Amino acid sequence: MTSSDPRAVLEATEPYDVCIVGSGPAGTILGTTLAKQGVRTLILESGRGLATWLTNSRVQSLARYDFTGDTDYPLKRTTSRLLGGNSNFWTGRCERFHPSDFETHPYTPADNPWPIRYADLEPYYDTAEQLLRVRGGKRNEYSPPRSGPLPLPPNPDISVLRSLCDRLGVDIEESATATPTKTFRMFNVHKEILPAFHDSGNGHVLTGLTVTRLLADADRKVNGAEVKSLDGETYVARARYFVVCCGGLESPRMLLLSASETFPNGIGNAHDMVGRGFNDHPNVGFMAQVPHSWGTLAPTNKVARTHQFYETFREEGLGAIVPVFRQAWVLPNHLLPFRLRNIPYNTASMISRLAKAAIYFGAGTEMTISKENRVTLSQTRKDSFGNPVGHLIFNYSDEDRLLLERARTLILGWLDKLGATRIHESPVAFSRHHQGACRMGQDPRSSVVDRDLRVHETPNLYVCGSEVFSTGGGMTPTVTISALALRLADHLGVRLRSG
Ligand SMILES: Cc1cc2nc3c(=O)[nH]c(=O)nc-3n(C[C@H](O)[C@H](O)[C@H](O)COP(=O)(O)OP(=O)(O)OC[C@H]3O[C@@H](n4cnc5c(N)ncnc54)[C@H](O)[C@@H]3O)c2cc1C
Repeated sequence: MTSSDPRAVLEATEPYDVCIVGSGPAGTILGTTLAKQGVRTLILESGRGLATWLTNSRVQSLARYDFTGDTDYPLKRTTSRLLGGNSNFWTGRCERFHPSDFETHPYTPADNPWPIRYADLEPYYDTAEQLLRVRGGKRNEYSPPRSGPLPLPPNPDISVLRSLCDRLGVDIEESATATPTKTFRMFNVHKEILPAFHDSGNGHVLTGLTVTRLLADADRKVNGAEVKSLDGETYVARARYFVVCCGGLESPRMLLLSASETFPNGIGNAHDMVGRGFNDHPNVGFMAQVPHSWGTLAPTNKVARTHQFYETFREEGLGAIVPVFRQAWVLPNHLLPFRLRNIPYNTASMISRLAKAAIYFGAGTEMTISKENRVTLSQTRKDSFGNPVGHLIFNYSDEDRLLLERARTLILGWLDKLGATRIHESPVAFSRHHQGACRMGQDPRSSVVDRDLRVHETPNLYVCGSEVFSTGGGMTPTVTISALALRLADHLGVRLRSG
């Protein structure tokens, strides 16, 4: 149940079995799975609904960041404080990592390979795809191995894009995508999954409560979370296990803010690894026009992608790439022929589209893992609770630039083969996948959490989210986050049962 009186909930009960900080996909899937198994679970969420997020300057101040670097990174609208986290904004694409992501490849840090394999996640991927109601049907030979088709059939039909790409020898498939239960809804985890948490009767979700630090005792055990309400009241939440699910930027910040006598550099940071290794997926993209076929005459907005080139660039020592193809409704204004620009935009764009089809060809790329790309604490700015805001330092490496260039060349070659005209390159855009800043590994000197997502130096603190990815791969992260959350629920269930 959701309660509006935190003191009544936090002080009237015995310590919870598990306290989860954050209600995005990681926190909601973990919490709901635990609560359904009978585990007494508390979810603490800093934000509330969209109205609070848009109007409350105190909540907005929690999402501010300092930035240094050459990536021109879009931090705005990616650190929102809302029930459901970034599932309020995501596009819903759900692509598994490939088995090769977990093996040693050119971008694997020499001192920190993944401590798990694809086989460790495979059963949890199946369950995650059921939970997220992923559509896309049967996958082709280039996709990660799976025992059957995706839970829901493909929709929409991408046959027109397929016939274009067949001419290039590129085997595309519909982007695997989470499907909301109601038309015109986005797949928000708080609408699609959290109701089952409430139905279980095994816990509470408290919103508008920000965890400002985790409290550790001299035995390195986390025994509480300091919690502040939007009007400045302070509480302490108690539980046997704590899981930080604050998203890829806020989880490392939370560990750093929790410095104490026991953990003078922040929890899990004895080797200065918290926050290091941040990465995302930069995308190259082109809009263009191609001669019509019958199929492209009708304006549509269909998206497809291919896994066909996932390994090929790796064979050359680079990262993975994932090309994306879209049939566009209309061309952007600046791509219209000059003579049409005086006609109102939509009409002009439709006229232009009748002459030739509008398409988008792009590619998301993997980044190298650099310890210098990191989340740290601001030296100058504070949030509304008086804590330093985060500071993201994020630069491209030479390899990142080379891979983007190679992806550009590949796509321009395809556009050339199709006889495309009016080719317009968009600026490099990031996918807003916050990965790698609390990475997983066997060695506490080069990682933050172990293969079970437990923070190395503690017995009862865990982190779950894309911040634990050892490398970034080329795939969208949320279905892997969900699989990790389900695996963690099993692990915590075993620990709780064994006392
Ligand atoms: C525009 C956009 C499009 C995207 N599209 C896709 C896509 O198609 N496919 C895909 O896989 N991914 C996509 N993503 C990324 C996806 O949204 C994230 O991978 C996912 O939301 C991460 O889940 P999470 O639970 O780890 O973190 P989040 O969703 O970031 O949730 C973290 C939660 O923690 C709360 N919180 C933070 N700090 C505290 C604190 N101190 N105390 C209490 N609560 C706190 C926040 O309010 C938030 O609710 C997209 C993201 C954006 C922004």
